Amino acid sequence: MRVAGEVIVRVFELCSAIVRPGVSTAEVDAKVEELIRSSGNRPSFKGYCGFPASICASINEEVVHGIPGDRVVREGDLLCVDVGVIHQGWHADAARTYAVGSISAERDALAEATAAGLNAGIAAVQVGHRLSHIAQAVEAEGRRHGFGVVEQYVGHGIGTALHEEPQVPNCMTPALRRNDMVLRTGLVLAIEPMFNLGTADTRTKSDGWTVVTADGKCSAHFEDTVALTDNGPEVLTRKDAHERIWIGSARSSS
Ligand code: MG
Repeated sequence: MRVAGEVIVRVFELCSAIVRPGVSTAEVDAKVEELIRSSGNRPSFKGYCGFPASICASINEEVVHGIPGDRVVREGDLLCVDVGVIHQGWHADAARTYAVGSISAERDALAEATAAGLNAGIAAVQVGHRLSHIAQAVEAEGRRHGFGVVEQYVGHGIGTALHEEPQVPNCMTPALRRNDMVLRTGLVLAIEPMFNLGTADTRTKSDGWTVVTADGKCSAHFEDTVALTDNGPEVLTRKDAHERIWIGSARSSS
């Protein structure tokens, strides 16, 4: 899973270089798939439940599961690239939101808070903590800024399958109160907050995949695969523990 995570780090370096106004999400997908396959590994998403691409590309009001295609990103957009890699049967899964050119202060604040939510969730991955520690840490970052914290989509265990038990919610839910697992060494989780400028509610578009905000306002999403070791959380999908995952480019207007 570390090796799969290292490939994802390289995918995000590639995306940082190629996500510019005028690039289509299909072009990003093609270049990412080429990188993954040339590393001798396979994309986790392609063919998963029939998903047609190697990345999910979700722009602005798209929360998750956007299908890459001819749509071109424009100055001011937020583009989330979500990607999974399989190395010798083991998965890693992560997502980054990118600013396309210069973006509004409002969108910058949204993405910054979502990245902070992920960091807070990772810090809560400690032996003896429970899933609710993660959920509360993530949720607090979103609420502090008044953003909608998406409840309908959650993080997950990950290993020889892309999605394993347990579910990892981004906020406290009745289901989490009933099944609040204790975290132990060896557990590997994908933590993935989604925060919205407006309502937390979502709907799925007619393509059967793309999840959008119910009010059409912007969303941001970050994800990392995190292993719980005897020394605390180890993030498998970052270059190092100090990597900054959001580098905004806010302009003054909002
Ligand atoms: Mg995931």
